[in-house]
Amino acid sequence: MGKKVLIVGGGPAGCAAGATFGMRGDDVTIVDMREDLRIRNGGPGPEQRSINLALSTRGLTALDAIGCGDGARELGVPMHGREVHALDGSTQFQQYGQFGQYLLSVPRSALNELVIDAAEKNGCQVLFGHKCRDLSLDEPSVTVEVGQGTERKLQADLVIGADGAFSRVRAMMMRKEWFNYSQDYIPAAYKELSISAENGKDMRLEALHIWPRHQFMLIALPNLDRSFTCTLFLDRDQFDKITTPAQVREFFQKWFPDALELMPDVDVQFFNNPTPGLVTVKTYPYHYSDKALLIGDAAHAIVPFYGQGCNLALEDVRILSDLLEEHGGILSSVLREFTEKRKQNADTIAKLALDNYSDMASRTASAYFQMRKKIGLALNRIAPKTFVPLYTMISFSNVPYSEAEQSAQRTERAITSLFSTAAVLSVLAAGTAATVAAVKTYQKSTRS
Ligand SMILES: Cc1cc2nc3c(=O)[nH]c(=O)nc-3n(C[C@H](O)[C@H](O)[C@H](O)COP(=O)(O)OP(=O)(O)OC[C@H]3O[C@@H](n4cnc5c(N)ncnc54)[C@H](O)[C@@H]3O)c2cc1C
Repeated sequence: MGKKVLIVGGGPAGCAAGATFGMRGDDVTIVDMREDLRIRNGGPGPEQRSINLALSTRGLTALDAIGCGDGARELGVPMHGREVHALDGSTQFQQYGQFGQYLLSVPRSALNELVIDAAEKNGCQVLFGHKCRDLSLDEPSVTVEVGQGTERKLQADLVIGADGAFSRVRAMMMRKEWFNYSQDYIPAAYKELSISAENGKDMRLEALHIWPRHQFMLIALPNLDRSFTCTLFLDRDQFDKITTPAQVREFFQKWFPDALELMPDVDVQFFNNPTPGLVTVKTYPYHYSDKALLIGDAAHAIVPFYGQGCNLALEDVRILSDLLEEHGGILSSVLREFTEKRKQNADTIAKLALDNYSDMASRTASAYFQMRKKIGLALNRIAPKTFVPLYTMISFSNVPYSEAEQSAQRTERAITSLFSTAAVLSVLAAGTAATVAAVKTYQKSTRS
């Protein structure tokens, strides 16, 4: 007999987990507080605004395992590198990895619809408009609100909290002893904007566009119809200072004049869209006995600067599936090992994601950074097993994040020593040239 699994949250992590348990023959129910995204009432409403996600190898591997990797590839645009926009309007393309390596730009809502379909195909019951209110951990059971004032209690063998960064399930687990939790906002907030298909038609399609301005940045991810979904990252107090349409235009004219031409209605978009904050959430452990488990953002939300949050969430499900296989479905062992395996890796990518803000907002514009990237990729081409740059290992492999960080240090050291050697050689070359010039001057002076 299969287990009764109740999943709170029908986002990427919850639905992928549902599909995985469904494939094992378990009896799965997914509850989500939103209405069904697939039912459109006269076009996109506010919930259907969609920040694009960059999916990389980890996310795609997990989607392949539940049969929707190809669906995602059809929905997405491959991005082979960054197109960096300087203040003077010039652009420069910087390749991410080797030939054939790319990040996939996918609209969030389309990805979500794909995984809901995959969950249903694998026998899950998906209940929309069901908001988790309470969790009784020892039973376990979840009380959901269905419409105004109506509540239902749902019983299960295992409850999975996949209800995002502000998880209700996590809040209930925190009532227990020995549960650690932290939440840290960074100063930057973000605003979604968009470039229409008509205005985006001359932009390089297969690239992540970035306007690095050191303390802040604008990025744009492509869609299949040639429109671009943009995100402005800026400190919250700077956002607060922009209060009129004229100030929006002035800001864009000063810092992103070429983007302003592509978004003539930026002042309208600016005030129509919210300005959410960016948070890192850490918890430990991710499980309670053999009764409850947190996955995805509910367990570990990270800032988006490595494009890994959703990849990490989907990878959680692949690892969970491997552990279920390894331990013959014995939940106490599976859940305990899940916490141990995932905690260190989630902490590593949380840190790398915070560090990567300055890479994106600032270093992408620096010649030194670009040269290091080029050397890293050249070394990787020469000895693909020995030298793998950190970015390549994070984005284009399934090597656990912590291992990736450690083994990439060798490549980073090699790049640094190549740089030092080049610097010494150029000092020597400059010294030799100066000596030759001095000798020539001396010879001239003694001749005259
Ligand atoms: C600006 C930005 C850009 C990003 N870009 C990238 C990127 O390029 N690549 C990448 O990999 N990641 C990216 N991320 C991160 C990514 O969005 C998340 O990591 C990912 O959505 C996590 O999936 P999840 O299923 O865990 O949670 P979510 O996607 O948040 O899904 C949670 C679900 O739970 C439901 N829910 C919440 N509370 C309740 C409740 N009480 N009862 C019932 N249901 C509930 C919600 O309706 C939702 O459907 C980005 C994030 C941001 C903010």
